Amino acid sequence: MTDFSGLNLAQPILRAMKDEGYTTPTPIQAKSIPALLQGRDLLGVAQTGTGKTAAFALPLLHRLAENAGRPDRGQPRALILAPTRELAGQIGASLRAYGRHLRLNTSVVFGGTPVRPQIRALSRGVHVLVATPGRLIDLMKQGHVRLDRVEVFILDEADRMLDMGFIPDVRRIAAALPKRRQTVMFSATMPALVKSLADGLLEDPAHVEVAPGATTVEKVEQRVLFLAKDKKRALLGELLNDQDIKRVLIFTRTKHGADRVAKHLGNRGIRCDAIHGNKAQNARERALAGFRSGNLRALVATDIAARGIDVEGVTHVINFELPNIPESYVHRIGRTARAGAGGIAISFCDHDERAYLRDIERAIRQSVPVFADHPYHSDEIANDPGPTVKGRGGRSRNGHARHGTPKKKRPNHYRGNAKRARRSAA
Ligand code: AMP
Repeated sequence: MTDFSGLNLAQPILRAMKDEGYTTPTPIQAKSIPALLQGRDLLGVAQTGTGKTAAFALPLLHRLAENAGRPDRGQPRALILAPTRELAGQIGASLRAYGRHLRLNTSVVFGGTPVRPQIRALSRGVHVLVATPGRLIDLMKQGHVRLDRVEVFILDEADRMLDMGFIPDVRRIAAALPKRRQTVMFSATMPALVKSLADGLLEDPAHVEVAPGATTVEKVEQRVLFLAKDKKRALLGELLNDQDIKRVLIFTRTKHGADRVAKHLGNRGIRCDAIHGNKAQNARERALAGFRSGNLRALVATDIAARGIDVEGVTHVINFELPNIPESYVHRIGRTARAGAGGIAISFCDHDERAYLRDIERAIRQSVPVFADHPYHSDEIANDPGPTVKGRGGRSRNGHARHGTPKKKRPNHYRGNAKRARRSAA
């Protein structure tokens, strides 16, 4: 597949691709679009950053445009469910961009914002409804939406729906859909409950998969920096003296931690904000907009809030705290390797996080190169792999951690070349 023109998409969609500057379909697009244009159900294993939104959005727009009459009031022809407001908003924005030369309406509904404008939009008639499950169920109960004209149902980030406890809501919504429909499901991972949901919703689906290893992880230059927990803030401040860190997403495990880091950076005169579930919707949107426009240099986020954040030009991701779920690490660092681009991910690792690092390295099937040339490097933490879980990780015979522990300080800078760092870590 060399360009979009081979995909049999309608001209107005191809024009929109040109406007967007997309020349070549990403692998998930090249695999999904033909199957979806044939009308097949599809199960896609792919995460944000792979171009999955366009993979389902383009065939959907193509299909709707083929007979785009006025939609009936409160009866969308396509439903896209997303777990978070941010993701729903981004899908809506993508649909509008990709459909800019078509006469199709898209509406986005999610909780935490006034419902009136959403009801008004629905009553005018929408072709595509993008929704988070809770708000959609409210609107269904109040009679503002009916799903019996839905031709295409798309469930995005099904695994995150599971994490957030939305599966019962998803099942309720699915029960209100017509039996005859096209169903598309995307998930970054396939835990058993997501698999059984897929079995119930999809009929003879095409399976497409892009391994995160090949798409995201390999494009990101990764570094781990070992240090004591109480030195993390000082190190973060020092790193941010480097003006090459232009747009940085910083991750913490907790909401409280996100606020503390944002405050610390603010005190140092760094333009930044925090985004997490305790913040009001308008505060989250303001933070995201500031980060997107470049007004904010840093955004501090928790995993759930950051899920699906799609901001171009994130030069660095800093894991102020490592995630306890390896999958989240891949999601986090993927924020800096948007389709085609590379990026740099810097992880702080304290003594208690060694076990998390070990799990992450196992999940990504590579060791993260160590960067020791910073003032707070701790050999002790670097050399102690943490408690050994039976049959997993542990110490090698020389007593060092199995992965990437340096014997002496590395000369390469944390901004340096990944290949070189991997070689020197070998
Ligand atoms: P997604 O995985 O859908 O969140 O998309 C990730 C990013 O890739 C978004 O910023 C898209 O605008 C961008 N993108 C999607 N498809 C392409 C493509 N074929 N060529 C270049 N960029 C793309």
